This record gives sequence, C-alpha cells and structure tokens, in this order.
Amino acid sequence: MKCMKCGETAFKSVTSEAIELGFGLLVIRNIPCYKCETCDEIFYTGDVVERIEAIVSEAKRLMQKIRVIEYDEAA
Ligand SMILES: [Zn+2]
Repeated sequence: MKCMKCGETAFKSVTSEAIELGFGLLVIRNIPCYKCETCDEIFYTGDVVERIEAIVSEAKRLMQKIRVIEYDEAA
C-alpha cells in the first residue's frame, strides 16, 4: 500500500479515532489502518471507512434513544 500523501510505503497498523457527534464524543479504538512511516499519514481502506460510518450512525441512534427515556416512563 502506497501513502496517498507522499507515495512512500505505508504499513498496516491500528489507530484510534475521536468523532464529535454534537452531543458527545465517540471514541473508536483499534481501527485497522495503514500508516506511512515517512510522513505519519494514516488512511483507511473503503470497507473500514464504511464500518466507521456504520458505528457513528449506530452511536447517534443509541444516543437519541437514551435521550427520550424519561424517569417516569422507565420505571
Ligand atoms: Zn507518506
């Protein structure tokens, strides 16, 4: 895999991503990625990007669900 920024060889690695959702911060750990050893650029393959997007939309859905639970209704 070539680095999209400088063209040097990028190696398989794992990283963490912090995503601001508006109502809170979502942190995804151990995301498989490629990391360039020359310029430290990190990039993801297409299926990893799709997986991250799915996790983000699921987190938004769950947070919205939690927000509508009223104390009286939950009892
Ligand atoms: Zn690079």
